[in-house]
Amino acid sequence: METKTVDVAIIGAGTAGLNARREAEKAGKSFVLIESGPYGTTCARVGCMPSKLLIAAAEAAHGMSRAEIFGVHPGEWRVDGRAVMERVRAERDRFAGFVVDATERIPAEARLRGRARFVDTTTLEVDDHTRVKAKTVVIASGSSPWIPPPFDALPDRVDVNDDVFEWPELPKSVAVVGTGIIGLELGQALGRLGVEVAFFNPFDELGPFTDPELQRVSREVFAKELDLHVGVGDIAAERVDAGVRIAWNEGGERHERTFERVLASAGRRPNLAALELENTGLELDARGRPPWNPLTCQCGDAPIFLAGDASGHRPLLHEASDEGHIAGSNAARYPDVTVHVRRTGLTIAFTEPQIGIVGHPWRELGDDVAVGQVSYANQGRARVIAQNQGLVRLYARCGTCTLLAAEMLGPGVEHMAQLVAWAVQHKLTVQDALSMPFYHPVLEEGLRTALRDLAKALKVAGGCRGEDMPRCPGD
Ligand SMILES: Cc1cc2nc3c(=O)[nH]c(=O)nc-3n(C[C@H](O)[C@H](O)[C@H](O)COP(=O)(O)OP(=O)(O)OC[C@H]3O[C@@H](n4cnc5c(N)ncnc54)[C@H](O)[C@@H]3O)c2cc1C
Repeated sequence: METKTVDVAIIGAGTAGLNARREAEKAGKSFVLIESGPYGTTCARVGCMPSKLLIAAAEAAHGMSRAEIFGVHPGEWRVDGRAVMERVRAERDRFAGFVVDATERIPAEARLRGRARFVDTTTLEVDDHTRVKAKTVVIASGSSPWIPPPFDALPDRVDVNDDVFEWPELPKSVAVVGTGIIGLELGQALGRLGVEVAFFNPFDELGPFTDPELQRVSREVFAKELDLHVGVGDIAAERVDAGVRIAWNEGGERHERTFERVLASAGRRPNLAALELENTGLELDARGRPPWNPLTCQCGDAPIFLAGDASGHRPLLHEASDEGHIAGSNAARYPDVTVHVRRTGLTIAFTEPQIGIVGHPWRELGDDVAVGQVSYANQGRARVIAQNQGLVRLYARCGTCTLLAAEMLGPGVEHMAQLVAWAVQHKLTVQDALSMPFYHPVLEEGLRTALRDLAKALKVAGGCRGEDMPRCPGD
């Protein structure tokens, strides 16, 4: 076995690992980037990008199917599943190709292929070919989809997100197991492309909302389009010639249906188990996770840093990117570890209607919080584009009137959630936000309605400037 001695060893060449490596390089430290799988990152290869490509195809089909609402009759049209999947892969390969090229431009002596595991706090073994002795280690090993029972017993019939994008064409039917963001995004897209899709979840949960009002409205809205079976009992699955037969209890009866494929999207788990963290001396919790500070990305006081999905903190691309920078720069300057201010939380789901969570979830906000809301059922611009459904709830701190967070369901939320996140991060008060310009007629005017509602709930002394502004039709 060869021995390699470096300042910083980085496990995982995903988004977090690549950014950690950039910091190590910037600080003039020697480093090695260890990767056990293909280059290209989860985001570009099997995550954010291909899922949005599939959703883009679904949006095109959905536009055709509902064009008649506007008096537009597209005539005969069809979805060419093979062509859909070919475009998804071609564009995906283009995106991932840029990342692969950038990774391969890192000098060969600073890259290792193989699975890393800890031998002690700062010594790693990569497969059985290299021993790495480092001053510090960054764990950026990402996460993997979890396949729950009973589906874990049918590995040849159950797919995860990675597999979907390799389908040569669209299957006839898919059972989506899980009703979180990834399941909803992929399942709704497949349904709009003509696949018969049903969603199953033994837990009575849908999407990421924690506010009961948003949970209620999102169920109502999604149930109009999606075949949802949440909170169902005793789910069984067996292999049959046509695919997988699923049986479940719902409404006091036993049901049974056969699907060509099952898509497991029941959550993702940090890739920590194979790292043999028990050899590091870190005290692990019951789930095998080390102590971790999100402001430094350090694990306890050890020369070990954890970033991206592996931390289990906020499994999102921009967070993986930030944590990679924080972990990399602190690993490079260890023991002089510095604290980094984290951005306001922002999660978006590209469903229709879209979902946005800004700041801390409502559940974690405490008591001294006021709520303002707007329904998108009759919002002017939303009606114009016939996407008039959803609810946005904004939360502010009583007394200071500072915007804290939002849970959002509606059209255009991918843009409006960004606006709210910027306002929250800049600690704008409700009055500050209302004094901003709002164009007409736009979906953001709904946000203004919610802000006015919030100002009322906060009993803002003397009212807000925005309160005196003339209302526009449809606002
Ligand atoms: C279907 C889907 C859609 C998504 N959509 C979005 C979205 O729209 N917006 C968004 O913000 N986020 C989205 N995400 C989440 C986002 O993709 C992830 O948060 C992000 O890619 C995580 O980056 P990472 O660097 O932590 O992990 P990764 O990019 O997964 O990198 C980890 C790397 O570590 C390697 N590795 C693991 N163990 C070892 C080991 N022992 N030794 C060596 N190497 C190892 C792995 O092979 C992998 O290459 C989506 C995810 C999925 C699955």
